[in-house]
Amino acid sequence: MAIYELRCGGGHRFEVIQSFAAPLPDCPQCGAATGKVPSRFGVGGSAGTPPRAEMMPQTWRGTYGGDREYVTHLRRTAEARRDLEERHPELVGDRRPIIAHEGRYENAPLRAGDQTPVHAPRHTHTHGSAGEGGS
Ligand SMILES: [Zn+2]
Repeated sequence: MAIYELRCGGGHRFEVIQSFAAPLPDCPQCGAATGKVPSRFGVGGSAGTPPRAEMMPQTWRGTYGGDREYVTHLRRTAEARRDLEERHPELVGDRRPIIAHEGRYENAPLRAGDQTPVHAPRHTHTHGSAGEGGS
């Protein structure tokens, strides 16, 4: 089940909660056929990370005068972000964009600036006399 924002040919917008495969309902206001409206945030980024709470509009003007539809969308986005932070507590307080958070990075999301063992192999041992007081 998921929430979809729908819009009919007449410009009415409404939301439905249904499964992905279920047929879209007709517009409750005019009966016209409807289509899904893409997310207004676009949830950019390769990892589909919801924006941080600080990036959400904080002012009345920022919500298009309190547009109910937009505010609902904001709340849902904020909830998505909260869910993400619950699953990835280490994200809180880190402003670097996440490059990957799936698969092998499930428990430790890869962020911009992180070194990866694959792309940044480190040659740690020393050759010859490095001056260390060993043995
Ligand atoms: Zn309509």
